[in-house]
This record gives sequence, C-alpha cells and structure tokens, in this order.
Amino acid sequence: MRPIKEFFPLLSNVQKVVITMHQKPDGDAMGSTLGLFHFLKQLGHDVKVISPTNWADFLKWMPGADEVLDYEKDKISADKLIEEAGWIFCLDFNVLHRTKTMETSLLNARCTKILIDHHEQPQTEVFNFGVSNTNKSSTCEMVYDFIIDSGNTDKINLAIATCLYTGLMTDTGSFRFPSTTASVHRAVAFFKDLGLNHSIIHENIYDCNTESRIRFLGNSLTNRIEVFYEFNTALMVIPKSDLIKFKVKTGETEGLVNYMLSIIGIKFAAIAIDRDEERKWSFRSKGDFDVNIFARKHFNGGGHKNAAGGNTKDSLQETTEKFKAILLDYERALN
Ligand code: 5GP
Ligand code: MN
Repeated sequence: MRPIKEFFPLLSNVQKVVITMHQKPDGDAMGSTLGLFHFLKQLGHDVKVISPTNWADFLKWMPGADEVLDYEKDKISADKLIEEAGWIFCLDFNVLHRTKTMETSLLNARCTKILIDHHEQPQTEVFNFGVSNTNKSSTCEMVYDFIIDSGNTDKINLAIATCLYTGLMTDTGSFRFPSTTASVHRAVAFFKDLGLNHSIIHENIYDCNTESRIRFLGNSLTNRIEVFYEFNTALMVIPKSDLIKFKVKTGETEGLVNYMLSIIGIKFAAIAIDRDEERKWSFRSKGDFDVNIFARKHFNGGGHKNAAGGNTKDSLQETTEKFKAILLDYERALN
C-alpha cells in the first residue's frame, strides 16, 4: 500500500468511483463515505456509494443517503459498478470481510483500491494506496485531512461538513473519548465557520427513538445485565426473543454496551446479541484493557483498543459460557 499523498496527483483524472464502508454502517462509516462522495463529485468524478448491507433509520437524513446502494438489495447493479470502477475507496474498515458478501467482488475488481481507515491491523496487501492511522478519532477526520492535504480546502461545503461532523461526533462519543484531539475541535470549528448546525445533527442521530426502542433499552438494563465485580466487568446478553418482542431494527442496539461502562468501577463491558445470521459481540473498555486483542483472540473480531467487536456461529448460550470461562484468565489484567 503506497502512502495516500502519492494518490493526490491522480485526483485530477476523471474516473468512475465506488466508495464503500463496513457492513451495518454507523455514523462514521456513512458520514465519511458521503463526505468523500460530495467532495469527489465536485472534482467531476462519477461517484457511487455502496453499503454492504442496510443501515439504521437514524442515518437516513444525511445529505446523499438516499442515493446510497444497498449491496444485499441491489447486488447486480452494485457488482456492475464495482466491475466498471476505476477507483474503489474503502472507508472505516480494515479487512475486506467486514463487507460480508461484497468481499469477493471487491477482491476480484482489477482497479485501483484506496483505504482510509483508523482500525488496528489493516489488510494493507489488497490496497494500492491508503492511510491507516489508529490515532485518528474517526474516518471522518481522515477524510477531512484527505481533502485539506490534497489542496482542496475550498471544496468543503455545508453538505461535506454535515456528513463529516456526524462521524466525528458519533465515533468520539460526542467529543468525550480520549481520541478527541485539538485537531478534532479545529475541524469542528472549521465546520462551524461554514455555518454547520451541530445541534440539529445531534437531534437527528440521538433523538429519534421509537417507544419500543426505549422499552427495549429499559428491559435490557433491567433484565439482561450481569455484573462480575471481581473482574470489574459487565455483560449484557440479548436473546432473539427480545429483538422480536421489541421489533428491534438495524442500529437500534448501538450504544447499549456503553451504559455498562458507566457503572462505577467497570473497566470492561461486553454485549452479545442473538442476530439471525450470527451472534454479534461488542466490547468496550476503559484504560489499559485492550479489547481489540481480546476480540481478535477469542471472538473472530477486532477494532480498537477500547472499542471492538466480534462474531461467532456458536449459540448464544455457548458463546456467553465461553466468555465467562475466558474471563477467569483475565482477573489480573482487569484488576
Ligand atoms: P461495534 O461494537 O460498535 O460494532 O464496533 C466497535 C469497533 O470494532 C468498530 O470500530 C468496528 O468497526 C469494530 N468491529 C466490530 N465488529 C467487528 C468484527 O467482527 N471484526 C472486526 N475486525 N472489527 C469489528
Ligand atoms: Mn470509525
């Protein structure tokens, strides 16, 4: 993978471009891909954004979101776009299998592939150009750097600012995680000078609960948490029956894991969700406990030091029993 700055001179060659992101995109994945989309369109490129799967309703207001293709729904036209593309940008993921069923088409595509990402241990051999920096708060911050470093600061308009602010906000937990650097605040100040309305974005993302989601949250907090004080750990296990009963949709389990990290003394929080196709794990930690390593080692996953995820085909009961058994080996690390 060659450094991204070697790609900048190519930006003036008009291309067919595909931009993609990880499956079940979050605010940073959708914000960074749409931010780059609005930027590359201004340079005259023919740009399409493809999501590997569907996405949460609370992302649908974003400028350009109505033009995003869902690979699972539109596989034939999406594969044609991938095949014909001159460039494919991969944003906010480190390994191609994070795009699920899109992985094969991405691997087979013969075009120039560019990575912009902030996760640990990227699959650098599949990309021609790229930037991977785990110190960055978000991929949105990296797209902001990409636009500025390529000498295009003047192209940043309100649509781009709105998309990029969204991922900066969601990936920093509304500017509270340690990744919130002075550069993050400088980017936000730049967006504010352009006229960004940050409070509307916060409302669009966070104040759009249905009654059933709030009741699902209440039930999860009351009935689904187990706390292991001797390990400073909290575990939430969400059975399929809850997802059905509360009509839980894509993205509506996001943020649940963080509630457990707010319990005094808790350093490690884990949630297992019984999805149709797999059991999905999310891990969060405070301080030195590295959940990226934990997720990689035991649950086929990865991510960042303090926020990672994983998945398994084991049953919910099997995987939670495995988690509890493994926890015994981490008593020292968690104290
Ligand atoms: P979340 O728990 O919110 O799904 O994800 C937390 C972080 O870990 C995100 O940066 C996400 O991209 C990453 N992540 C989540 N699940 C997986 C996984 O199964 N594999 C890998 N490599 N990363 C994951
Ligand atoms: Mn991200």
